[in-house]
Amino acid sequence: MAPVRPADPPVVIRDFPAVPPLRAALACRCPRCGQGRLFTGLLKVRPACEVCGLDLSAQDAGDGPAVFAILFLGMLVVGLAALVEIRFSPPVWVHLLLWAPLILIGAIVMLRPLKAGLIALQYRHRRLGTTSPT
Ligand SMILES: [Zn+2]
Repeated sequence: MAPVRPADPPVVIRDFPAVPPLRAALACRCPRCGQGRLFTGLLKVRPACEVCGLDLSAQDAGDGPAVFAILFLGMLVVGLAALVEIRFSPPVWVHLLLWAPLILIGAIVMLRPLKAGLIALQYRHRRLGTTSPT
């Protein structure tokens, strides 16, 4: 008599070569196959990968990307503003003119890869998209 096995998950993880999370993050691609696009809009995640079918509906990056963007941009802008202030002592409007666009553009540029990176790490460590044996 054959032993009873639980049903196999719909997609076996080892069917896909490991995608480095940094590569998936920078390319904003699926953390499992590395080919499917992760976003449908600026920051809206697809419900499933268009290439491998990974269910992305359970992803939950939450506020993580915003926190990391605030930390990175804050460190960069405060450092640059202090440097400019010490070297040139410009009026306040020059600081506003310099740093406000940098913060806005930097946040927009950084949020997508940061979100993709957190989803890739979530996939790697929590096995997003797989069924756990019960
Ligand atoms: Zn995929």
